[in-house]
This record gives sequence, C-alpha cells and structure tokens, in this order.
Amino acid sequence: MDMLIGGKHISSEDKIEVINPYNDDVIDTIPIAHRQTAQLAIEEANKAKTSLTEMSAFKISNKLYNVVSKLKDKREEFAESLTLEVGKPINESLVELDRSIETLKLAAEEAKRIYGESIPLDAGLNGKGFFAFTQKIPLGVVCAITPFNYPLNLTIHKIAPAIACKNTVIVKPPTEAPLTVMKFCELLNEEFPDGVVNVITGYGSEIGDYLVCSSDVDKISFTGSVTTGLMISQKAGMKKVTLELGGNDPMIVLNDADIDKAVKGVINGAFLNAGQVCMGVKRIIVEEDIADIFVEKLINETQKIIMGNPSDTKTTLGTLISKKAAIQVEETVNNACKSGAKILIGGERDGAFYQATVIDNVTPDMDLVKNETFGPIAPIIHVHDVDEAIQVANATEYGLQAGVFTNDYAKAMKCANQIEAGTVFINKQSTFRTDNMPFGGFKNSGVGKEGIKYAVDEMTKTKLIGLNLR
Ligand code: NAD
Repeated sequence: MDMLIGGKHISSEDKIEVINPYNDDVIDTIPIAHRQTAQLAIEEANKAKTSLTEMSAFKISNKLYNVVSKLKDKREEFAESLTLEVGKPINESLVELDRSIETLKLAAEEAKRIYGESIPLDAGLNGKGFFAFTQKIPLGVVCAITPFNYPLNLTIHKIAPAIACKNTVIVKPPTEAPLTVMKFCELLNEEFPDGVVNVITGYGSEIGDYLVCSSDVDKISFTGSVTTGLMISQKAGMKKVTLELGGNDPMIVLNDADIDKAVKGVINGAFLNAGQVCMGVKRIIVEEDIADIFVEKLINETQKIIMGNPSDTKTTLGTLISKKAAIQVEETVNNACKSGAKILIGGERDGAFYQATVIDNVTPDMDLVKNETFGPIAPIIHVHDVDEAIQVANATEYGLQAGVFTNDYAKAMKCANQIEAGTVFINKQSTFRTDNMPFGGFKNSGVGKEGIKYAVDEMTKTKLIGLNLR
C-alpha cells in the first residue's frame, strides 16, 4: 500500500514487507519514507489546517458519522486484515473493529461538545466591570504514532478526537502491522479535505524522530514502549506530548475472593491477544491460603484454550507479532525457571506461537515480572496478606491499570487507594476498558489521558477572551 500525503498516494523505491506471522507469507509492502517525505507530510498537514478550522462542528460531526457507516460496512474485511497482519484470533479482531466503531462514534458526538466556560472576572480583585469566556482551540498538527498490538483502535483513539477538535493529523502506523490503519485513513480521506489526514510509513527511528523534533508539529500523541516514549519526551521540546506506554499490571486475589471470577479474569487478561496487551494481567498476586485451589482451577481453564490458525473462529490463542518476539518470551520464561520458577502448563514455542503458560513460584525480583513480558504468561506470586500484596503490586516502574479480587470492601478500598496505577478495578481484571473512560497510566506507564473527551482536552489549548464592560 502507498502512503497518503496531501490527498495523494505516494510510494518510494525502498519497501518494507508486511509479514503474516502465522505462515510467514508476505501480505503486502509499504514504502520506507525518509526525512523529505516526513517534511512533505508536515507541510501538507499545515496547509490543510484552515480547511478544518473553517468547517462547522456540525459538518465535522456528520463526516465522522459517515466514516462510522463506512467502517461498519467494512467490519469483516478489516477484521480479517487485522488478523493477517497481527496474528490475533479473528474473534478478537472483530471485537477490535466493534470498539473502533464505538471510538469513532464517541468522537463524532464529542465534536459537538467542544466549548469553554464563562469566567466571572468580577470575582477577582479589580475585576469589577469585566467579563471573560474561554474557547478550546485546536493545537494545529497532531502526529499520531502507534504500536502493533491494537493498531486500528489505538490509532482511532488519536485521529478521531484530533479531527473532532479541528486538528489535522499525520499518522505513523506501526511498522509490523500498518495496513488496516492505512485502509482506515483512506476512508477518512474520502470525507475530509486533502491533507487533513496524512499517513507516512517507514522506520520510527528515522521518520518518527523527524516528526517528533519538528517545530511545525504541535502535538505528539504516542502509544508504544517506555523506551521509545522516554526518547520522544526528551526530543519533543515545547510541543504537547501524550505518552501511553507499557504496563506490568497486577491482579491481586485475596483469600475471600470469588475464585472462579478471578480465574476467568486471568484467562481474559493474561492470554488475550497472546498477552500482547499494555494493560494485560502480568502479575497474579495470590494470598497463600487459596493459592493451591486457585492454581488448580486456572490450569483447568488454561487447558481449554485453543491455539491455532488465527483466521479460524474456534481459535482463542493466535501467534505473537513475530517469531523473534516469541523467542524473547521463551528466553524470559526459561531464565525465570533457572531461578526457581515452575511451569505448570504450557511453556512451548512453535515459530511465532507460544503456548498459554501458567508459572508458579515466581518471585518479584525475576525479570519475567520486573519488566513487561509481552506474551501469554500467567506468573503467580504468593503473598501472606493484603499489605504484602499491595507492596508487591507497587514494586514496578509501571502503573497502568490493576485488578483486585475480594469481597471485603475495606480491603478493596485499601488496595484502590494504595495501588499506584491510573485505574484500579475491583473484581475485574486490568484488561477491562471502555473507550469513553479516562485511560492512562502513572509512573513510567505514561503522561496524559485518552478516552475521547480526555484526548480532546489534550489536543486543544484554552484561549481567554476578556471584555471591559465599564
Ligand atoms: P514501540 O515503542 O517499539 O513502537 C511504537 C511506535 O513507535 C511504532 O509506530 C514505531 O515505529 C514508533 N517508533 C519507534 N522508534 C521511534 C522513534 N525513535 N521516534 C518516534 N517513533 C518511533 O512499541 P511496540 O513494540 O509497537 O508496542 C508495544 C508497546 O506498546 C508495549 O510496551 C505496550 O505496553 C505499549 N502499549 C501501550 C498502550 C497504552 O495505551 N498504554 C497500548 C498498547 C501498547
């Protein structure tokens, strides 16, 4: 597929192959853009700014609704496209499509609700006879840089609110899985003036870096790893930056918990998208006295997972994004085992597949749980009480989301208050998210929030207009 810049399709001599991780087939190729093309995208996005600022909110909202309809029509086709490039089971891709449609709809609604407030200046010293109001105005050009694991919905979480509040956009989709995003941007381009949405492909280290450093880009909205996020925050200068970064989310299971519910939480939280989820359940912290029964039930449920062809509707576990990524998971698990961890089920790799794996006897100092392990792993850490559980939960540089399973509301609230994370769910695992909620982590998990209304706040600036009524 070609890039889309200023409404034109642009290619380049050098290409990257987009590989289906299930069978190593080449699905398509994308151009490797260099700095000159990134500069062209910046110029086109800047040229198109007035085409949006002069458009009414009513019209922008209607156009976004038109794209909602188009995306609905292409639901199955786009889901299959996601499955081919990411290796995720088709049923999970269909869920990503449904959420993408929902995210876009939320933006179409929000486009009509972008307003400031009236400020009673006469409430201030010397303010008698003055009145003011604020307006939320667009920043200008938003650059959206996104990761491979939920390429479509995470990109829409940036493009849709950006356009809703009248910013033009440059999208840098993930190198491994760019195609569905590129197809979606074609749909947007059919509705909006040329240059409102631009897509540039290639290596993040070159074009991503160029976009981040440019003074003609007004905002970087990045989702990806902590390493890249930190680099971006150091280079972005004075422009606004939102960073949605990695996670190492804990699930605490206390001894009074509904164990079946907690086990279901692990199945849905640790193995979803082969564990390649920023808010995936990465550390299961279980009170010692229920650990045996919890583990037994977890093994039973894990046995039911069907690993196989991601396009088959029966499959519940697909591949990782690449064989290289699966080898990395394999090595991390093997290292943990050398330090005393014990695989109870799973633990085998086949190409880009890695089995759903439950590992017991994990200690907080093992790399497996100290860093973000992006694979279908359920590591179990035993603790003696709620205080130790909280201490283990917080012993990480990350703080995205967390889940606590208990029926004791005092303990639930203690966890909610003391866990250092952007979100704490009681009796639900961390992978739960609705697309309207404020989403974003503490600590190294990021800066800023997404969830359409919150993204709009981060993609506008507030201007005050004061009136002398004396
Ligand atoms: P990544 O950081 O390797 O890449 C993300 C994007 O950044 C890609 O488009 C890449 O090409 C681009 N990039 C790479 N180097 C760059 C540079 N120097 N300047 C600008 N852009 C650059 O991440 P990934 O491996 O694609 O995704 C996995 C990571 O994303 C995990 O850590 C995961 O937890 C995180 N993630 C976070 C969230 C969230 O909302 N918090 C959601 C999904 C994934």
